[in-house]
Amino acid sequence: MVVPEDSESLFNAFATAAFFKFVVFSIFEMRYLLAIWKASRPLSNGEGWEAMRRELSVLYSRFYGILLGGILLMYEFLNHLRLILLLVYSFWIPQIITNVVRDSRKPLHPHYILGITVTRLAIPLYIFGCPNNFLRIEPDHSWCVCLAIFVGLQAAILLLQHYFGSMWFIPRQFLPEKYCYYRRFTQDTNHSTDCVICMTAIDLSPRSNDCMACECVTPCDHFFHSGCLQRWMDIKMECPTCRRPLPPA
Ligand SMILES: [Zn+2]
Ligand SMILES: [Zn+2]
Repeated sequence: MVVPEDSESLFNAFATAAFFKFVVFSIFEMRYLLAIWKASRPLSNGEGWEAMRRELSVLYSRFYGILLGGILLMYEFLNHLRLILLLVYSFWIPQIITNVVRDSRKPLHPHYILGITVTRLAIPLYIFGCPNNFLRIEPDHSWCVCLAIFVGLQAAILLLQHYFGSMWFIPRQFLPEKYCYYRRFTQDTNHSTDCVICMTAIDLSPRSNDCMACECVTPCDHFFHSGCLQRWMDIKMECPTCRRPLPPA
């Protein structure tokens, strides 16, 4: 295989960087990954240790498989390195799809999105954009602009998902029908209800037109202040009283 010199030095640089990243990943980020994995399965501790171990080993083998396969593919297609880099830099797309599939509420902090985007862009922009970079690769400014626009677009979609909901780009008629937290309920006037989140009484008097100010009722017939429940659902999608899963708002 005839490999252009700049591709080879680029591959070596990336392989070295990938190795260090791998070491850092196995030490620190695997724990982070496990914490996320555990948090997204609140009921899994009831299913037994066996099932959890099986699922974990699938997670590990998928990770190492993708890592090894990725390195092999990268070496095989060294001449199309820029295309591969573009593929690698579509790293926000799985997150965008996951947000839509799970209808997540604000899964990532905007600072995190911006920080990861900028720091990941810095290295390829330096290598392909700086005239006197230490890898001695010919600058390719149009490719740099393409990469920056591509990654910037993904980050913009994620940020819009944060502010306008995960499905903002899907037309309303294609969306599944949602549960209404302001639905009518049979009112028991003798019984006063407290919001278990802030421990103060909930005003169950007939509602005004301004729905955002009044109380919410979950599918399991538990009452909360609208603001309290919204803050709660930013963190957990289960009922604060009975821990049943809550539908997305
Ligand atoms: Zn409250
Ligand atoms: Zn409940």
